[in-house]
Amino acid sequence: MTAASRAAIHDPAGDRQDGGPVPVAGTHPADRAEGQPGDRLGRRLHDLRISVTDRCNFRCTYCMPREVFGRDYAFLPRAEILTFEEIARLARLFVSNGVSKLRVTGGEPLVRKDLPDLVRQLAAIDGVRDLALTTNGALLSAQAGALHEAGLRRVTVSLDSLDDAVFGAMNGVNFPVARVLQGIRAAQQVGLAPVKVNAVVKRGLNESSVLPLARYARDHGLILRLIEFMDVGQSNGWRLEDVVPAAQLVEMIDAEFPLEPEPPSYPGEVATRWRYRDGGGEIGVIASVTQPFCGACTRARLSAKGELFTCLFATSGMDLRALVRGGASDGEIEQAIAERWRRRGDRYSELRSAETAELAETSGLRRVEMFAIGG
Ligand code: SAM
Ligand code: SF4
Ligand code: SF4
Repeated sequence: MTAASRAAIHDPAGDRQDGGPVPVAGTHPADRAEGQPGDRLGRRLHDLRISVTDRCNFRCTYCMPREVFGRDYAFLPRAEILTFEEIARLARLFVSNGVSKLRVTGGEPLVRKDLPDLVRQLAAIDGVRDLALTTNGALLSAQAGALHEAGLRRVTVSLDSLDDAVFGAMNGVNFPVARVLQGIRAAQQVGLAPVKVNAVVKRGLNESSVLPLARYARDHGLILRLIEFMDVGQSNGWRLEDVVPAAQLVEMIDAEFPLEPEPPSYPGEVATRWRYRDGGGEIGVIASVTQPFCGACTRARLSAKGELFTCLFATSGMDLRALVRGGASDGEIEQAIAERWRRRGDRYSELRSAETAELAETSGLRRVEMFAIGG
């Protein structure tokens, strides 16, 4: 590992004083972000992912393995979690800083009571152009209508296999596929469309599920997104050998249903898009391990307890809850967010990729868990 890359990884606050890269203007169509300062790599703040809880009703092996997150695991006490009013206020201040896309996530967001109330508050923020939710789908059929009525426009449902044995083993609680499909159908029926389906692919576990998922998605008007197994957090026992490169996944589908590349819907889109040549829709692949996209990363993340993370692989976040509960004004909080973004220099995946041979060194850092800050 080079001294520069080590410094960048060990510099989650991004506040090295050694000059760093010279910011260049970003090119995101995030029109609200125009005129906002970029970070140290010229990336403008465009999206905010909001984790509303660190709790979950699943124990996915790649996220919250049950051996680690058992009965005795200490989740955040209620008082530590931001209230809906606190979340909405912070979201509004992020929007003042250029954010126009919000995604509600977790943990499992639908286990948080009265979530439509939060959605209603977020939808009312002037300047929010896109409001979406990522869920495991277990509780979706009961809540889809209320979420849509509250102003939610899009939903992404995670589903790693259509085979109950494979899915049950991956979700860690033997949750049946049929109930997730029921949630997807309910979302489609109320107009949360097009529904995206996220599948994390882990070697030896669910490669054989990829084609059936692609077929199902084609037949039911869903957009399948295949995600490389990532080395997030400390608990999922990640190994490079377990990653199935996205290029292989595309080849696998292309052999059965020929594909052609589809241009990104906007610069900096995380998923690489492919279209079925026969007009059967599209898929996306998220190749964060084999083809990192840090150069276009415009995302901030707000954890359930109110920390701002500027990278999925960060080791620490900035405590916005302390500002909110300490009586800071809107202007002060807005300024704190802007300054933190300006100092941002994160590009973990690119460094990991450049330094794979020395991966042991990067993986020794205490990274925050994915369920704490959302995917
Ligand atoms: N509980 C919700 C769900 O599963 O959709 C939302 C939170 S979850 C952390 C968000 C996304 O992160 C999910 O699509 C999940 O599959 C993905 N994810 C979690 N751990 C991952 C890992 N190690 N590698 C790649 N994706 C992961
Ligand atoms: Fe829960 Fe989502 Fe993590 Fe699975 S991926 S354990 S559903 S938070
Ligand atoms: Fe963004 Fe960090 Fe992921 Fe790079 S590693 S794409 S900076 S979240």
